[in-house]
Amino acid sequence: MKAAQKARLKLRCPITLAREHQITVPAGWFDLVYQMCAEIEDIAQQINQKRRQRMFLPRIIFIEEHMGKLTCEVINGNKDISEVIKKAQMRSVQRCMYCGDEAHQFRRGGNLVSCCDRHRSQFSL
Ligand SMILES: [Zn+2]
Repeated sequence: MKAAQKARLKLRCPITLAREHQITVPAGWFDLVYQMCAEIEDIAQQINQKRRQRMFLPRIIFIEEHMGKLTCEVINGNKDISEVIKKAQMRSVQRCMYCGDEAHQFRRGGNLVSCCDRHRSQFSL
């Protein structure tokens, strides 16, 4: 993910990305990650309006790719946030990690990757 994309993400998520975090997802997943973070941020903004819950704002710890699938760890998460993450995970296996096109999961060595046919053939050469 490019620096400009990370900057856009931080701007959209002043609460959830306020603390130290690690985002290491491939560029093809930017839209997906952006949407997921925006939805988590909206939940955080709502919690922020309730004075008594403000101590427990959701914070994104890391977002990364693991076995061709998006993983995201959040502290102070809740059921709604878990749903948002689960939805993004399901979408991530259908999106090419490199370009965002429609993808399938493939085995590469001991790993699983999610990529389009074009990128799959590039890497199997
Ligand atoms: Zn691709």
